[in-house]
Amino acid sequence: MTTLDASLKAHSRNGSSRSADRSDSASIGSSAIAQLRPRALRCKLCGAGFAAAPTAVCEECLGPLEAVDPDPSTLPTRAEISRRPHSIWRYKEWLPFDGEATLSLDTGFTPLVDAPGIARRLGVARCWIKNDSVSHPSLSFKDRVVATAINAAHSFGLDTVGCASTGNLANSVAAQAARAGMESWIFIPDSLERGKIAATQIFAPHLVRVRGNYDDVNRLCSMVADQFGWGIVNVNLRAYYGEGSKTIAFEIAEQLGWVLPTAVVAPMAGGSLISKLQRGFREFTEAGLVAGAPPRLYGAQASGCSPIVQMVHDGRDDVRPVVPNTIARSIAIGNPADGRFARAAITQTGGWAAAVSDSELIEGIKILAADTGIFTETAGGATVASALALSREGRFSPDDEVVLCITGNGLKTLEPIVETLDESPVIDAKLREVRALVNAA
Ligand SMILES: *Cc1c(COP(=O)(O)O)cnc(C)c1O
Ligand SMILES: [Zn+2]
Repeated sequence: MTTLDASLKAHSRNGSSRSADRSDSASIGSSAIAQLRPRALRCKLCGAGFAAAPTAVCEECLGPLEAVDPDPSTLPTRAEISRRPHSIWRYKEWLPFDGEATLSLDTGFTPLVDAPGIARRLGVARCWIKNDSVSHPSLSFKDRVVATAINAAHSFGLDTVGCASTGNLANSVAAQAARAGMESWIFIPDSLERGKIAATQIFAPHLVRVRGNYDDVNRLCSMVADQFGWGIVNVNLRAYYGEGSKTIAFEIAEQLGWVLPTAVVAPMAGGSLISKLQRGFREFTEAGLVAGAPPRLYGAQASGCSPIVQMVHDGRDDVRPVVPNTIARSIAIGNPADGRFARAAITQTGGWAAAVSDSELIEGIKILAADTGIFTETAGGATVASALALSREGRFSPDDEVVLCITGNGLKTLEPIVETLDESPVIDAKLREVRALVNAA
């Protein structure tokens, strides 16, 4: 048994009992570390309860763990929420902790941008862009999941965090660990976009490029987490990580004036985001903050890596891994950990899924830029192009109110875009030359 295994065993005293109580979870980690207490965990498959710990796998059935629900008597009202700072922490009761977070307090509350041009293209009443391409601090939605995971790591007394990443998670872990004064070990496939690599290295993490694709990197990281006792945010801290995604749903509901849209389109990699959107909308409905049907959830992938779309289309519950082959590297996960939960979120809400080619997703990037002034990365292009494909299939109705989740920034994935842009004219600094260009334009 490795040291981490041993400490996890010690943490989860009563594997099969009901959820561990709060005082139990509060005692975990170094006693010098302050008030934030990660909540207890529960198996998503068999329901077994465990004390809070940096572990994401059920001892009973090997199913994934998630944090227990908040105590309904502690939940705030709309008015209380609206008086709080603009960050994910304004929804703290629904995040997997008791007490106050101390790290990454600036993440969240990205703009929800009205996009009438996209609404027209989709043939729907309204469309908004949830613009996580300007997320703090690292310009992708991964800041949300790292913000919750790094607070969990800190509360557990871990001084080193890490991740297996397709790029954006690497940026976010490196950035948030640097400013928290924590070490980070970051594992990525060897062939990522230069922008993603540079925007990781600048924070001076231990960056390791692994020969292979994300699925190879992820397998390696599962072993790494056990060996070195680190907090790998999307492996042994995954239960705390995933909860950060729900804040997109909370923000959409609040920013629309406590009204739900009728449909939401989101990109899918491991399938965590879309399954947590379902949980977020459900939690706000159960808390009485919003009313009506939950939005239909629509998943987007690139056709060069679309295992979850295939599950939806085939009506299948089992993930059939694929070898990714797409320029949309940030969502190129061939063996998605949350594939079955993603499919369940889509089918239970009455949504659907679409996959688009690399040239369609490049076109999606350009359409979003032209209509909204937002420059997204390849995953955002896949989201826009998938929404258009779903519209052509008749999945939306004219009275639909649709939100597109734009999860990353285009400046990080310049390579596939620059190839498709025309060269701009070069002139001498002479008015005559400008006039010639204006006349020709
Ligand atoms: C990670 C990521 C996603 C979705 O990830 P899930 O693993 O499905 O939660 C979407 N968009 C971008 C840009 C990402 O980096
Ligand atoms: Zn279980």
